[in-house]
Amino acid sequence: MSLYVQKYGGTSVGSVERIQGVAAKVAAAHKEGHQIVVVVSAMSGETNRLVGLADAISEQPTPREMDVLLSTGEQVTIALLSMALQQIGLEARSYTGGQVCIETDSAHTKARIESIDDRKIRADLDAGRVVVVAGFQGVDAQGNITTLGRGGSDTTAVALAAALKADECQIYTDVDGVYTTDPRVVEGARRMERITFEEMLEMASLGSKVLQIRAVEFAGKYAVPLRVLHSIEPGPGTLISLEEENEMEAPVVSGIAFNRDEAKVFIRGVPDMPGIATSILAPISEANIEVDVIVQNVASDGSTDFTFTVNRSDLVKTKAIVDQIAAELNAAEVITDDKIAKVSVVGVGMRSHAGVASTMFKALAKENINIQLITTSEIKISVVIEERYLELAVRAIHSAFELGNAPA
Ligand code: ASP
Ligand code: MG
Repeated sequence: MSLYVQKYGGTSVGSVERIQGVAAKVAAAHKEGHQIVVVVSAMSGETNRLVGLADAISEQPTPREMDVLLSTGEQVTIALLSMALQQIGLEARSYTGGQVCIETDSAHTKARIESIDDRKIRADLDAGRVVVVAGFQGVDAQGNITTLGRGGSDTTAVALAAALKADECQIYTDVDGVYTTDPRVVEGARRMERITFEEMLEMASLGSKVLQIRAVEFAGKYAVPLRVLHSIEPGPGTLISLEEENEMEAPVVSGIAFNRDEAKVFIRGVPDMPGIATSILAPISEANIEVDVIVQNVASDGSTDFTFTVNRSDLVKTKAIVDQIAAELNAAEVITDDKIAKVSVVGVGMRSHAGVASTMFKALAKENINIQLITTSEIKISVVIEERYLELAVRAIHSAFELGNAPA
């Protein structure tokens, strides 16, 4: 007998029929003898609808009232799902976050979970009941309702799985797993059987909206095995877990991530001396702008060229700051470019294999794609290229590492 926390997102509970479908799935797992805790989101579109209502009343609704409002979406689904479960003969009980003591800090609309008292849930499970918990919400020490940030139901599910020491946290969603890359870009992209937390975090930045990043971090920290599954079609999904003992057996490259959200800032001809990097980057971080790729290189005339990337939406703000610093430093020029994209190959197997970079670069060279920047970490190699070549690059690299489905 295993204990599973199953999470169903907004689309999976988007209609009465879907809620009944979820109930049938939960019942099947329960019948196999497992203990089941279900975490649900609000019905799809509901949270946005509530946000719209608030906006219609106030330009700046207070965060506390926002939380009281937004938490209602999930309260609807826990009750409906419990009714659907009871309707097919299961004993089920619904609880809001506060009722099962999901205690958070007081940072309304982006609260963090501090503790969970699992006693009530355990008692229900031991009595043979299915427990249905509202995702995305908790209460602070003063009893105020809080919410965890958009997409926060994933985090609720992982936190409950950690508190209950569940065998698995199963995230049911509208895709059947995590893919080697975006199937909309590469037709032959393949569902992965398993992937490590580390890899998933690198892949998640690719805008794979499969899982909230925070939930993956949380699961990694508490070593909660996470499984992503389709909420209607049966299948094993993708297991996200700690690294396998034997890294040698891991595929060298697991997947290809990419994003178009970055822009590049190039400062040419900066004096080559200690303190330059911090004098450029400190004001940027003080402005709360996140820097991603950073490359510094000495030019032939002894000055230094300094390049970095920021989120595209921060480019205008960044440029204003950099122009000022460049003037102070007597730099030759500042050039910005927002028509770039970043492509990364990700894989823990890379640690024990050489040659990944050269395979990647060769694939790009064959397509005549120029690499503007390169950065590496232990399990990732990223390149920045011209945006218009992004899809071509992803396809070329995906096939160079033979990540796709074997041809029939
Ligand atoms: N209902 C919330 C949202 O739409 C939380 C979630 O779905 O995970 O963001
Ligand atoms: Mg969601």
